[in-house]
Amino acid sequence: MIVGASIAGCAAAIMYAQQGLRIALLDARSDIRAHKVLCTHHLQPCGAPILQRLGATEKLLALGMVETVPKFWTPWGMITPDAAENSPPPGFNVRRETLDPLLRQLANDYQNVDLLLGHRVSGLLTKNGTTAGVYGTEQGSAFTVEARLTVGADGKDSTVARSARCDSVSASNGRFSYFAQLSGLERPDGESSLSWFMDPDVAYLLPNDGGISVLVVFPALDKLGPFTDDLSTAFLAYANALPGAPPVRREHIFGKIVGTKHFSTTLTDPVGNGFALIGDAAATNDPLWGIGCSWALETAQMLVDATAQMLTETT
Ligand SMILES: Cc1cc2nc3c(=O)[nH]c(=O)nc-3n(C[C@H](O)[C@H](O)[C@H](O)COP(=O)(O)OP(=O)(O)OC[C@H]3O[C@@H](n4cnc5c(N)ncnc54)[C@H](O)[C@@H]3O)c2cc1C
Repeated sequence: MIVGASIAGCAAAIMYAQQGLRIALLDARSDIRAHKVLCTHHLQPCGAPILQRLGATEKLLALGMVETVPKFWTPWGMITPDAAENSPPPGFNVRRETLDPLLRQLANDYQNVDLLLGHRVSGLLTKNGTTAGVYGTEQGSAFTVEARLTVGADGKDSTVARSARCDSVSASNGRFSYFAQLSGLERPDGESSLSWFMDPDVAYLLPNDGGISVLVVFPALDKLGPFTDDLSTAFLAYANALPGAPPVRREHIFGKIVGTKHFSTTLTDPVGNGFALIGDAAATNDPLWGIGCSWALETAQMLVDATAQMLTETT
């Protein structure tokens, strides 16, 4: 049973299902098209083979997912990966409103995946000191689900991790972040993802599906004041001061500017009797590195590859 039907949970459900296992996939949210809002949509290359294994790559490309390579602005000059054989493989940019529903639908398409939406887990069932499932509420009614393995894929501040009393360490963040989806912005570098490593500030301009570009800024915390006073003015001023960036105007901003002021990172002990954690539930990384989605895919794959055969043999 998997708690959390987002990237990590759907990926694990699909890979278990491909090996013939039966999975209950629970999520607190009730809409199959729900998506994570606080994310800037870059998938590092290490996630690409796993997207392929899920059968998602071609479908996402058809929905406009952008294959992209980075270019880095630094105070010491530009770094542009060349076409040499050892240059990094491309990553992808795809908005979560495109990615999340597709992964959830792919999981739901397997007959051996029971997608249980609107199921909020609040604690773990235990038998003889071993985790044996979960309990929670669905539309105000109590439910329980028993399983041989309970997977916590329920993101940052995981209920599964807290209920299992996993050890964890956290660190505070020296930067805050804000981002916006921009429509109609000039893309001077085509499908390249522009990165500004300004030490200590960092910013990215990411071409995405639907002709949208995502601009995300990670200034050091001492610059927070103007963003708190007048977010859109501070965001635009910051964007237009980025060296070599295309001009960003207020009318480019599509939807809200969103972000996080004090985003702590957490590393959690990810396994115990009868349960395992994957994705943000296991390690919530600094969003600065745009690695969380591929980490979610990689940890799902690690768990499935380590446990599927044993679970199949004991079914
Ligand atoms: C500002 C910001 C920008 C980011 N940008 C990037 C980026 O560009 N690239 C990148 O790779 N990563 C990025 N990340 C990180 C990325 O968003 C996460 O690492 C990723 O979403 C983790 O996926 P997950 O499946 O582990 O968890 P989540 O996507 O958080 O999903 C958890 C799921 O569990 C469900 N759930 C939670 N609690 C319960 C419960 N009690 N019962 C039932 N269901 C529950 C939720 O509804 C949700 O569906 C960013 C993060 C932030 C904060």
